[in-house]
Amino acid sequence: MSTKTFRVKATALMLVGAGCASVFEMGGGEVASAATTINPSPTPFPGPFTSKIEGFSAYDGQTKCIRKAKPGVVAFEKFVLRKLKKASFGIARSCSGSSVSEHKEGRAIDWHMNAYNWRDRQQVKKLFRYLFKTDWWGNPYARARRLGIMYIIWNKKMWRAYRPFDGWQKYEGSSPHTDHVHISFARAGANGVTSFWTGEVAKLPEAWIPGWPPEPTPTPPNQGKTTGRFAGEDT
Ligand SMILES: [Zn+2]
Repeated sequence: MSTKTFRVKATALMLVGAGCASVFEMGGGEVASAATTINPSPTPFPGPFTSKIEGFSAYDGQTKCIRKAKPGVVAFEKFVLRKLKKASFGIARSCSGSSVSEHKEGRAIDWHMNAYNWRDRQQVKKLFRYLFKTDWWGNPYARARRLGIMYIIWNKKMWRAYRPFDGWQKYEGSSPHTDHVHISFARAGANGVTSFWTGEVAKLPEAWIPGWPPEPTPTPPNQGKTTGRFAGEDT
């Protein structure tokens, strides 16, 4: 599909919203139910979204062996990645070996792109712009949050939802990820129950982000008033 089509649909999905109040809501039981509910065939929510949005996913690494692609990741491949350059993808993986990998739970995807190829790099940039764009309501990283993305690795760098404002940090794992983009999803995102798909905000295990949401700027006393006591008055 053409990039033009991608842009048009992306614009339709830009009507996403967020309220900072939801960022730190973490009911324990609700987290469990969001993580265990599965939407078998997610399709993108057509919008418009309300102002509510998921917070930033905490790190919640692989603990089980499932080896079956989760529906939210399959839908992400189908809807988002296929609008960019078609490349081979991989989601589920054998559980052999001791390394922790969300591929073993079917909640990570590899998009095979070449970091040494200019055209591939532009495609990857387009995806990251789409995921990280601040939405109409002023919420940063809006689609990454609505999709329940936990972290991304590409070209020796890593972006973590649980350290979003650190930006891209150096990645020193054994694979430099110069031949693919890796994206891991929180359980609710992988299950296709986050707001990107449902329009309803899922209760992710959310990271505590120092200084986020920002404190509202205090309003100076009596600002804008034309009557009453003013600073400096000694009455
Ligand atoms: Zn991977």
